Amino acid sequence: MDLYEYQARELFRKHGVPVLDFELAATPDQARGAAERLLGAGASLLVVKAQVKTGGRGKAGGVKLARTPDEAREKAEAVLGLDIKGHVVERLMIASGADISAEYYFSILLDRSNRRHLAMCSREGGMDIETLAKERPEALARVPLDPAVGIDRAVALAILDQAGFDRGRAEAIAPVLESLWRVYRDEDATLVEVNPLVASPNGSIWAVDGKVTLDDNARFRHPAHADLVDAAAQDPREAAAKEAGLNYVRLEGQVGVIGNGAGLVMSTLDVVAMAGEEFGGLKPANFLDIGGGASAEVMARGLEIILGDDQVRSVFVNVFGGITACDEVARGVLGALEELGGAASKPLVVRLDGNKVAEGRRILAAAGHPLVHLEETMDGAARRAAELAAAPE
Ligand code: GDP
Ligand code: MN
Repeated sequence: MDLYEYQARELFRKHGVPVLDFELAATPDQARGAAERLLGAGASLLVVKAQVKTGGRGKAGGVKLARTPDEAREKAEAVLGLDIKGHVVERLMIASGADISAEYYFSILLDRSNRRHLAMCSREGGMDIETLAKERPEALARVPLDPAVGIDRAVALAILDQAGFDRGRAEAIAPVLESLWRVYRDEDATLVEVNPLVASPNGSIWAVDGKVTLDDNARFRHPAHADLVDAAAQDPREAAAKEAGLNYVRLEGQVGVIGNGAGLVMSTLDVVAMAGEEFGGLKPANFLDIGGGASAEVMARGLEIILGDDQVRSVFVNVFGGITACDEVARGVLGALEELGGAASKPLVVRLDGNKVAEGRRILAAAGHPLVHLEETMDGAARRAAELAAAPE
């Protein structure tokens, strides 16, 4: 999960990274009020910053300086509603501004190809780091981190030395790098980036930008991170699926797909796309893996999510009976249809195989549910599902 800059700044503050005060604003008047309070608390410069989950806001006109409440209001009016790489600005960070004499770059990230945490540091911050890495790779220090040590004072000084900082400046910045390592480690991040990390004329160091990606696989260790989820920006079906513990991804297609096991679901997507070509290019509408225990309850939650999607015209249920045998799955499908009642109105093509397949098919055939179409093979079922999706209602 990527965080907004203001959320990153809150985590920075929590771990002792030097950051300046801020407030959020969603209207020009709120921005004016925030500016008044920050100026009243001693700020002499303000920054009005678009809160969108993309970089390059400065270049796109999403970061502006102001010195008075009226100016902050004016800048807020200009930035709100801006479209930055497809992200419309709905909220602003009104922050106390740093007096900048130099802009540096620092990041810690999970370097998957080398199975290490990696620190990157440069005296040339503020600019696009990909460009710097390509055009002047020598200006970007890359230091693999020992996970058992991370960044202590000695490691921080070594990183800064490699990036070409003189000893005095390095002494001032080293504690900031140590704090940023704590953010990375203690919050289970896979990316912590500060671009720019700035020095003021008086020598103080500030993180004026912050980009943090948290590791979703570690979410269970951080109940507090649930508050960081941007509910508004999430697909409501994906949110409902996550709530129910299902692995669901919405796609742009017409044939709903449910299977057990990621591999089976992936190959089901392939056969559906292939079969769909014959019917004018119909495509799978989603990925949904209900996992090993395909109980009626889980099947109902899965079907509910898929059938609630207007783009879906038919559903292909493709289950290989294992620990949960096909007879249970068959009862699960029927139970789910019963539970959903009128909400289930689209044809369901069911293909069962594996443990107790004969019993599972017998149960479905005996039930004779008008929406259920039994098929024996995966290809046959995919074709049938595509055909039903193509049929006029
Ligand atoms: P980005 O363009 O999305 O990476 O947004 P940044 O937060 O990095 O801001 C872009 C640029 O605005 C920075 O490189 C700075 O030059 C400038 N900027 C941001 N915050 C401040 C600040 O507090 N004071 C001053 N003087 N400039 C700032
Ligand atoms: Mn930046």
